[in-house]
Amino acid sequence: MSILSIEKTKAIIIKAIDYKENDKLIWAYCEELGKITFIARGAKKSKSKNLSLTLPLCFGEYIFFKGRNLYNLQEGKIINSFQGLLNNLDKLTYSSYVCELIDICVQDAEVNKTLFRDFITCLYLLNTDAMDYELLIRAFELRLLNATGYGLEFDKCCICKKAIGTSDYISLSHFGGVCVECNKEHGLYISRAGYNALRFLNNTPMDKIYRLNVNKEVKKQIEKVTTFIINSNYSRRPKSLEMLNYIKE
Ligand SMILES: [Zn+2]
Repeated sequence: MSILSIEKTKAIIIKAIDYKENDKLIWAYCEELGKITFIARGAKKSKSKNLSLTLPLCFGEYIFFKGRNLYNLQEGKIINSFQGLLNNLDKLTYSSYVCELIDICVQDAEVNKTLFRDFITCLYLLNTDAMDYELLIRAFELRLLNATGYGLEFDKCCICKKAIGTSDYISLSHFGGVCVECNKEHGLYISRAGYNALRFLNNTPMDKIYRLNVNKEVKKQIEKVTTFIINSNYSRRPKSLEMLNYIKE
């Protein structure tokens, strides 16, 4: 008999599909294991004790045993099912989007406890009502970029590394603000307000970003920057926001 390894970790379910007759195949982002895929046996049956543990957005304490190829769910305990996010189109779309970002941008089994904590914080804040969700999402995107090697530099010129107070240009190839002396190419011009908003969102804890107040135009500019970087640096483009943007147009 082979020896099974048992793993206990906090995790959030990011994606689930039906698998075989009664099982589900689940993608989860875990505090201790990074992004993993696991099988939940019997979880398709409505009487299964594991059913609610395998719904997207469920945040819980999970125990897995590792088979030859995949993790198997043994048991778990829900901390917050976040099912309240499903009752509001904006919240549902944004929470699906952050799950999709984790799915697309994070490598399997790469552990990052800071990003895990930011992911949870983002879901908790989406679950409240006193928040500008768009700015929250931008703050999460910037953290994800930092965690996956595409973080933006706002305090130094990203080309010559000289300290800068602000800038009107973001280089998309050097990832950051550009000073008055360096070449402005492969990037986007941005208003000072947009630049300062991006820096604020990048540097401020997520539960404090409600202090930022910017107009629609500035929001559009910062969305353009993060969307461009996300769309051009990972293997797939996220699709979750397309419908919402279409409705809002
Ligand atoms: Zn420079």
